[in-house]
Amino acid sequence: MTGKIIHCPMCRSTDIYWDARGPQSTLHHCRKCGYNGAFILECDEESEVHMG
Ligand SMILES: [Zn+2]
Repeated sequence: MTGKIIHCPMCRSTDIYWDARGPQSTLHHCRKCGYNGAFILECDEESEVHMG
């Protein structure tokens, strides 16, 4: 399965969750820096990932 990993555009964290409270709600939220917005970075799994 080819999955895409979403990153926070501000802090590059992958700890992102959706605000799914409404049918038109397309906001992403970052748990790390508190960013929220429709813009998000998408990367393929093969992209460089630096963990810790
Ligand atoms: Zn962030």
